[in-house]
Amino acid sequence: MIDLAEARRVLLAACPRIEPVQLDSAGADGCVLAADVFAPANVPPFDNSSVDGYAVRTADLAGAAEDSPVRLEVLGSVLAGSVAGRPVGPGQAWKVMTGAPVPEGADAVVMVERTSATRTEQLGAAGDRVEVLSEVRPGAGIRRAGSDVRAGDRVLAAATVLRPAHLGVLASVGARQVSGYRRLRVGVLVTGDELVSDGGQLRPGQIHESNRAMLLALLVRANCRPVDLGVAGDDVAALRERLDSAVAGCDAVLTSGGVSMGDSDPVRAVLDRFGGLNWLQVAIRPAKPFAFGVLPGPAFPVPVLGLPGNPVSALVSFELLARPALRHMMGHDDPYGTTVLGIADAPLPRPHGDGRTAFLRVGCRFGPDGRLHVQPVAGQDSHQLSASAAAGGLAVVEDGRRVEAGDELPVHLLS
Ligand code: AMP
Ligand code: MG
Repeated sequence: MIDLAEARRVLLAACPRIEPVQLDSAGADGCVLAADVFAPANVPPFDNSSVDGYAVRTADLAGAAEDSPVRLEVLGSVLAGSVAGRPVGPGQAWKVMTGAPVPEGADAVVMVERTSATRTEQLGAAGDRVEVLSEVRPGAGIRRAGSDVRAGDRVLAAATVLRPAHLGVLASVGARQVSGYRRLRVGVLVTGDELVSDGGQLRPGQIHESNRAMLLALLVRANCRPVDLGVAGDDVAALRERLDSAVAGCDAVLTSGGVSMGDSDPVRAVLDRFGGLNWLQVAIRPAKPFAFGVLPGPAFPVPVLGLPGNPVSALVSFELLARPALRHMMGHDDPYGTTVLGIADAPLPRPHGDGRTAFLRVGCRFGPDGRLHVQPVAGQDSHQLSASAAAGGLAVVEDGRRVEAGDELPVHLLS
């Protein structure tokens, strides 16, 4: 057996990072930037009003107060998207809406609430008179050009994992395209002669297949483009053909099943003959067996990642090994997800004393103390998917460690 860290090192080394491409920035949520992004121009591009109000010359408002309002001549209204026709002169004001360019000559915008303009009398037409009920500081009510981003600023650094607000930032500087890592097309092929995939009647010895839907959905959450490759039987020659056509259309392929010690474990056999098999016995529980190899694709070598067939093992194996490998290929510098400290609310199942680190499925909730509390799910065997479905995290328990209620321990949060 090798420990998880070593297994990850070996796996990631075999799964090379893809080449960056030009991505449509609006569609790049979850993708990793391959290069810094600089702003070609100021954001906002011009001084504009932060309120609905009147663009004024503050010098005109000396002494303005509720009981001694200052009257100004209104030159008209400026909406967001239009510009004032002429500058503000002494004793004058433009009515301006939020986002409208501040007219020349004005050095502040006084908000409508501090004027005599009301809902019924909006005082925005040329020739209207508005009374201002307080003084304002120069610059008040104005968002300066470049106050969000200055021309030439680095707005986003290479290696940033794009989130929705980043897409907004890219749009705000007009960056329609960015250099980044695209979503991988990842095939899912499950193996097993016993598997029924259409929900139909089971014959003796058959089971409903459960890994495909789970893995396809996990891939979507991992920001990949899943490709459903269906169900393959345990015949080695047939599986070889299925994998050959899979690598023709995919950047990587996940399989489930067929990587254990069994006589007829076909994924292991195919990779052994054609893909430079790495067959790992990882010192974790569940998900000890993991096989991977690299098959020649049409353009580049395609990693084939062989997850174990037991559904809980497939889930844990995806989380701890496959997902990091795919994230590494897609440019993530930190592909491993989040581990935090949690508190056990109950004793955790006893260690097996077999040298493997347990990744116990645990329910997770934040307590009134603001800390993460975990409770083991009701079935920890690797076929008990229904129990594990309730888990929000994997409690990491080194072999030999007894965890009692109240003990602190690392918890890997499930994506
Ligand atoms: P294997 O890794 O192929 O030896 O499979 C281990 C166990 O997982 C066996 O009990 C299989 O029947 C079960 N299994 C394998 N693939 C699936 C699947 N796609 N859905 C549900 N159970 C599976
Ligand atoms: Mg099998």
